[in-house]
Amino acid sequence: MIVQKFGGTSVEDGAAIERLAGIVQRAVGEGPVVVVSAMGKTTDRLVAALSRATAGDEGGALEQLAAVSRDTLAAVDEIFGAAAPAVAAELAPLFAGLGRMAAAVAVLSSVPADARDHFLAQGELVSSLVVARALAARGVPAVRVDARDVLVTDAHFGRAQPDVRATEAAARERLAGPVSRRQVPVIGGFVGATAGGQTTVLGRGGSDYSAAIFGACLGASRVEIWTDVDGMMTADPRIVPEARVLDRLSAEEASELAYFGARVLHPLTLAPAIEKGIPVRVLNARRPERPGTEILSGAPGGGEDVRSIACKRGIVTVEVSTSRMLMAPGFLRALFDVFARFDTAVDMISTSEVSVSVTLDDSSRVAEIRRELEQMARVDVVPGRAIVCLVGENLKFTSGIAARIFRAVEDVNVLMISQGASRRNVSFVVAEEDVERAVRHLHREFFGEAAAPGAVSTARAGRV
Ligand code: ADP
Ligand code: ASP
Ligand code: MG
Repeated sequence: MIVQKFGGTSVEDGAAIERLAGIVQRAVGEGPVVVVSAMGKTTDRLVAALSRATAGDEGGALEQLAAVSRDTLAAVDEIFGAAAPAVAAELAPLFAGLGRMAAAVAVLSSVPADARDHFLAQGELVSSLVVARALAARGVPAVRVDARDVLVTDAHFGRAQPDVRATEAAARERLAGPVSRRQVPVIGGFVGATAGGQTTVLGRGGSDYSAAIFGACLGASRVEIWTDVDGMMTADPRIVPEARVLDRLSAEEASELAYFGARVLHPLTLAPAIEKGIPVRVLNARRPERPGTEILSGAPGGGEDVRSIACKRGIVTVEVSTSRMLMAPGFLRALFDVFARFDTAVDMISTSEVSVSVTLDDSSRVAEIRRELEQMARVDVVPGRAIVCLVGENLKFTSGIAARIFRAVEDVNVLMISQGASRRNVSFVVAEEDVERAVRHLHREFFGEAAAPGAVSTARAGRV
């Protein structure tokens, strides 16, 4: 059994779904389970619709929903021709439900967390239906599986966590069952449900994570992540056009990259795969003949010291200073308790005798956090920052790396530095407006022509 996950661009229109069908068809002998994201911009539009509706703008919300159904139905027309009305009729209740929910949210000017998840989940419920019918129309014995019947999660709406044991039992029945009957299950990523049946979502970009969870639950021999680039690269090709594809990465390297902003993989994707030793391959759905990147647990990295450079924008730093800290055991515990109480994860930490700085990528509760922290210390909250992170399994073996890094970015103001305990990454904080320049300078330093003679430059494929 293998899991094949197709991201938003890989199901964005009729042509993309045709390519998907070709890829799945070639894998039929391996027993594929197909996991799909919502089509194209759907989830962004659903998020925008909710924000219009909560502002009381029902018209604006319905415009977003109209764009979703227009693009979806255009793809359906393209794929099914004369049979399109039958598929459109299956989708009609889903679109009608979205319209009713948006109207209700506009009346209330607010949306409860569970209703929000239910709304956002519709994108994957629609795409899985379209893809299943498209595969069937091509003669692939596909069956559409509702993700809410398989992925069991807690009730942490917006960022639900899987209950692996319960999911395993459901996956055996609803995914492995059809595969053993030579059918191809097609299931939406990103979406799950609580044991009580309330719809949940895993957080943006979560379809990769769904695919890995299903892979782990099924003991799949491989998880394939089909996307719009040739694999994991030495940097985001949108920032560094000459970035190169990496043939292999260790799962630990890939996890650090994902965590620090390489959005080609959701940060939690590799944990279930590592646990079960399942290889993950990142592949380009527009160029399926390319080998992609193979990610293996514990695999040795390549020869380079730095394998890839990631960055994450929208970071807030919280700087806490107090002269009392020196004398106060338990201060750090009290400090981190505050972040925990407000359910906010801290990424980077640096300390001195009198101050602690942390970075947050989710700053939605930073006002409350600040109020609490101000009871114990002086607090500065600075938005508009970014983290740059260099990753490489071999960083731990080389001296002089830090000197090369900071020489390469000597014209950039570096605000905070940390080396992960794994010594697999070096990260630092810069102002958001400096981040692209920092990444380009570093890429030139570590992957410039002189550093990698003969390397193939690989641009993004297809439309951007
Ligand atoms: P999907 O919709 O298939 O899940 P995403 O947009 O989430 O695709 O992820 C693919 C994008 O990730 C690429 O288009 C690329 O711009 C970006 N990206 C960021 N860092 C990297 C990296 N190191 N290697 C490859 N792609 C990267
Ligand atoms: N559709 C969801 C999102 O856009 C999940 C995913 O595509 O991975 O965030
Ligand atoms: Mg993604």
